[in-house]
Order: sequence, then C-alpha cells, then structure tokens
Amino acid sequence: MPKVYLSPAYHYWNPCAVAGCDETTHNNLYLDVLEPYLAACGIQYKRGPRRTPKSGEDGDALMLQAVRESDAWGADVHYVSHTNAANGGVRGYRPMIYPGSGGGRKLAACILKYRRKIYDQPIRLSESSVWYELRAPAAVSFYEEHVFHDNASDAQWFHSHLGAIAEATCRGLCEYFGIPYRAPGTAKPSPAPTIRKEEQVTVELRMLKRGMEGGDVRSAMLLMKDKGYYPYAIPVSDKLFGAKMEAGLRKMQADHGLGVDGILGAASWGYLLGR
Ligand SMILES: [Zn+2]
Repeated sequence: MPKVYLSPAYHYWNPCAVAGCDETTHNNLYLDVLEPYLAACGIQYKRGPRRTPKSGEDGDALMLQAVRESDAWGADVHYVSHTNAANGGVRGYRPMIYPGSGGGRKLAACILKYRRKIYDQPIRLSESSVWYELRAPAAVSFYEEHVFHDNASDAQWFHSHLGAIAEATCRGLCEYFGIPYRAPGTAKPSPAPTIRKEEQVTVELRMLKRGMEGGDVRSAMLLMKDKGYYPYAIPVSDKLFGAKMEAGLRKMQADHGLGVDGILGAASWGYLLGR
C-alpha cells in the first residue's frame, strides 16, 4: 500500500482573504477533505500535527516533528499543503519539488495534469532546496502552494474547490503509484464471479522409452500396475524404465490398439491417464 504523509501549514496566522480564515486553518480543512479520497484508493496516509492558529505552539518544532514522523513511518511521498501570499494582486498555483528529484518530477507531472483541468490561472512548477520540507524528508516531497490566499478570487476559488482539488491530487497520486482511482464511497469492485467445475492444469509429459529415468517414469509405472500391465512390486526408489516395463507397455499397446512400439507417447499416456 502506498504511503503518503500529509503535512499541513504550521503558521501562527497568515490571514486568508476569506474573512476569519488563515493559511493553517484552510490547509487543514483541505487535508480533511483529501483523506477520504486517499482511503478510497487504498493509499495509506499519516497526518502531521494540526496547529491551533494564534496559539503559543512552536510551528517550526511541529514541522520538524512532521518530517521525523514521515521518515520513521517510511512514507513514499511527503505531501506539504500550503498556500501563497504576495501583494494581494497575484493569482496562481506554484508547487515545488526538490531539485533534480526524478520522483518529484514524475509526481508533479501527474498532479499538475489533473489540476490544470480545474484551475485556469497560471501554474508554475519550480525546484527548490530552500524549504526544509523539500530537502529533509526521505520520501519524495511535493510542496503545494495551492493559490495565493491574500488574493480574494484565489482564496474564494480554493475554499469552493476543496473537493475538486482533493480529487485532482488523488488522481495524480494514483497515476504516480500506478493504481486505479476510485471515488470515495464506491466500494472496491469485486471480480466477476467465475464458476468452474474444476481447475485445469496443463502439464507437459515426456515421451518415455527404455533406459529413461524420472518421476514421470515412476508415475507411468504405477498407472500401468493399476491397469494390470506391470504386476510387480515398485520400490519407492524405482524410477527406471526397464525391460519389464517395456514388455508390459507393448502388451498394453497391443491390447488397446495404441500402436506397438514400446515407447510411451501421446496415445499410451492418454490411455494411462484415462483421457
Ligand atoms: Zn482560507
């Protein structure tokens, strides 16, 4: 099962253009929405600490804790959920990956592909080693800057598209992991019931003749004994096609029109196996 560590923003109070909201609060809201999408697709997730905005908590300590947890858990992807700020006039989606990370590039390509379908503002992927949560985690890190939260239109879009963003992200993760996407609330499709009266196994049989040795020789010997063409004791170690077996085989072939050649081929095997 793929493992994704979800790390929200840990800021004290980065005000959002939506009244009363802030970066930490709405990224936690978004991750709350994302979780059932991941669960439906069989993606395991672990959630970073939920900071209470304007509290005395140490945001940096929470971030270090998140990376420690992500590493200890053995996450495949470390997913950081943030939003951006500028001067209030900028819009856009600006995710980041660690420079040169092949996994990061692949994951970004998958997630951006779906985000483009729902977001018509500028999208700019960049590579950066500045941020601790990009350079420190052992997992492939993907660092979201979903929108500019100090821009009214972007903030509004984010708040009204949490489900759509979650779905796009989850579709991207599924593609990255090579697993099928399933919407939340849809049960795993059960395989079509197949009713079989019996299992069928195909085996290849050697053509046997005097002098050959093996488990198949022994099997043939036992089958011949069963049909009365090898009326001898068969020691556990006996796997050799000898003179008595050849004589018995010739008699069997003669009795049943199998072509008398003393060689155990398709027709004789068919007779022995009751086909
Ligand atoms: Zn907000």
